[in-house]
Amino acid sequence: MRIVDATLFALQIPFVEAFAHSVRSRSSSDAIVVRLRAADGTVGYGEAVARPYVTGETVASCLEFMERTLWPAVKSADYAPWVGQEPIAWLGSLTLPTEDSADADTGVVAWNAARCGFELALVDCLLKSAGVSLGELLPPRRSVIYSGVITASSIEGAVKHAKRFKQFALPHIKVKITGEADRERLAAIRAAVGPEVSLRVDGNGAYSVEGAIATCQALADFQIDSAEQMIPRGNPQELATVQAASTIPQMADESLITLADAEALIAAGACQGFNLRLSKCGGLGPTLAIADLAQSAGIQVQVGCQVGETAILSAAGRHLAAYLPEISFCEGSYGSLLLREDLSRRPIHFGHQGLAKPLKGAGLGVEIQDSLLEKYAQQIITLPSKAA
Ligand SMILES: [Mg+2]
Repeated sequence: MRIVDATLFALQIPFVEAFAHSVRSRSSSDAIVVRLRAADGTVGYGEAVARPYVTGETVASCLEFMERTLWPAVKSADYAPWVGQEPIAWLGSLTLPTEDSADADTGVVAWNAARCGFELALVDCLLKSAGVSLGELLPPRRSVIYSGVITASSIEGAVKHAKRFKQFALPHIKVKITGEADRERLAAIRAAVGPEVSLRVDGNGAYSVEGAIATCQALADFQIDSAEQMIPRGNPQELATVQAASTIPQMADESLITLADAEALIAAGACQGFNLRLSKCGGLGPTLAIADLAQSAGIQVQVGCQVGETAILSAAGRHLAAYLPEISFCEGSYGSLLLREDLSRRPIHFGHQGLAKPLKGAGLGVEIQDSLLEKYAQQIITLPSKAA
């Protein structure tokens, strides 16, 4: 199957409420949607969320890489349909570069968000064309239970969110921490939700090794199930030092972008958990490869998300979370709980107790509304279908 045209939509969808962590606060989604059309007229959608402090990609550089490197590779390929192959093998057959010769000095770790946008669009398009759901390629083992995430706002604001999540009966909550009044914050949240709810924290790299160790010790009283990315991405040995000195399981997020990162973290005994995120890790194929490696090394995996992701990444994350043999926690599918409007015709967000059923329907299983892509696009780029 040949892909005959591609359109990129750089979106700006306002949030219902601003979301902050230690690195930045945002009040709208800046997702990029990739729309591909196959020779038979089938249309598929993918999504990239570029984060300079994660993979090094920005919206502008991501769009450029898509145009310069990914689109030429995609339009010159002839894709084989999925006919029952093992998922990593078939996904691996979708030729999608994550680097190019223009990379020197860009500070980009890997063009994973860009790759994810194209990979998901291809998967959606090729599976839809064959009338197959992603749930057939990745058969679901369970319904998915989503976590609430509490943004790094005031402690009163955090407690208000915690109480709202308790009303929703969410069993798992992640709290963004910054190094300011962490103990008071966790004490107030633990008091608000009671002893049964699972709490975990995410530092987004705001701490030094010593600070991370001291904070984990200070928070140990509040039954914290994992501490995510307390220190910045760097030498895995440093994270191993934090893990060795802490009773709270450490989880790698920004430190885990590529398969090579996963191998290095495992070799160093750096952590007990990996946060897998599709846009960060380069799409379904690379993420499944990391999950396989994690499983064989006894590392727990969490399926994470991008703040401000739309129904496209949420749908792909749902399939991934329902399929993986074991996951510790899952995040995402906030949909219109966070976005003023989500892109899918039917709402994707989770329900009471954070529960959401596996998605059916061809491709990713969500129907994307082109009218909303146009409504929220800051920039629409139609890529040339034939070589000039
Ligand atoms: Mg994180």
